[in-house]
Amino acid sequence: MPQQTTDSILTSLSGCDVGYKEILTRLVSFDTTSRLSNLPLIDFVRGYLCGHGIESQIFLDESGQKASLHALIGPCQEGGIGLSGHTDVVPVSGQNWTVEPFKLTARDGRLYGRGTTDMKGFLACVLANVPHFKRLDLKKPLHILFSYDEEVGCTGVRPMISRMGKDFPKPGIVIVGEPTNLNVVDAHKGPGLWRLTITGRSAHSSMPALGVNAITFTGLIMNEIAKLSGELEERSRDERFDPPYSSLQITTIKGGSATNIVPARCELAFNVRAVPGFDILQVEERLRQFILEKCLPQMRKIASEADIDLVLTNQVPAFDVPKKSPAVSLALAIRGQKDTFAVSYATEASLFEEAGASSVVCGPGNIAQAHTKDEWIEESELDRCMLFLKRLADHACV
Ligand SMILES: [Zn+2]
Repeated sequence: MPQQTTDSILTSLSGCDVGYKEILTRLVSFDTTSRLSNLPLIDFVRGYLCGHGIESQIFLDESGQKASLHALIGPCQEGGIGLSGHTDVVPVSGQNWTVEPFKLTARDGRLYGRGTTDMKGFLACVLANVPHFKRLDLKKPLHILFSYDEEVGCTGVRPMISRMGKDFPKPGIVIVGEPTNLNVVDAHKGPGLWRLTITGRSAHSSMPALGVNAITFTGLIMNEIAKLSGELEERSRDERFDPPYSSLQITTIKGGSATNIVPARCELAFNVRAVPGFDILQVEERLRQFILEKCLPQMRKIASEADIDLVLTNQVPAFDVPKKSPAVSLALAIRGQKDTFAVSYATEASLFEEAGASSVVCGPGNIAQAHTKDEWIEESELDRCMLFLKRLADHACV
């Protein structure tokens, strides 16, 4: 969008009450696919908050191209309620969109566009409520906590969390507005991602005995992963989840260079989505043992340089908190619900919880629409979210 238009809309959104739809139109218009910078969106949010007299601080990543944002409304003190969401979205490439992904399209009570459900709809509701929050006599602070790189392993929120209680007061409760249809989610699985690099020795494929075939050994390891996956289905169960066990999946594989060369290198990525209480390092130990006993001795008989490197590249802790936790009980009370739910996708909630802020996942939209082509959210979901946030804010007034 040309700069002039951005500025004029920014000005028109500053200092007065605007609806979530106008704000969502702006948020969706920024292509914040995780590999890209989110700074234009962050600048927009900062400008909007500034228009309402609210200062914000940002936490830049190492590249200086992405930032998370914290802002506080009300008294600057420990406690209060944090409203947390990520600004990044998943790619649209390879998906056959029938509407423009980065332009909000309203049709039949639905709002279409990348991120409407996951999770710019929630961010828009938070921002649209800012003028209302400002008018309240807040006794405890409301925090706005917007992150980046959630979609690539919940990495972007971590530097901001590490500054909680240092650069800004720690919220007592954090509401993570991922799409749950505003149901209260008190448990999610904890993913672990590994990269495996197999190094063999290349040779002419007519003389295979001179080489060590990296793909063949990768195959052995894949077979072991498949075996382990079946075992986890049996012995790592938690019926609250769907699927009700820790799942193990190989996700990418890359190897070989030509049809007449014994391949010297192969790379494999796999992940586990662990139910709470399952130690993902069990998976790693099992594979290390297999590699040590069944692969390396054979490989090194021919090539001393042969090696297998197994690296845990990312991990998000599982989330599992009691119903009586401050965040869960508040969300249940406000939503007028008794039941909590468990989900199989990871969120930033476990990271906030780990850092000592009682957390819960509760936000508008259905996860079934997240990451899909023609992503959409019901306007009625956002209306309900607006109300949910207002009621949350009421709890910060007592
Ligand atoms: Zn999300």
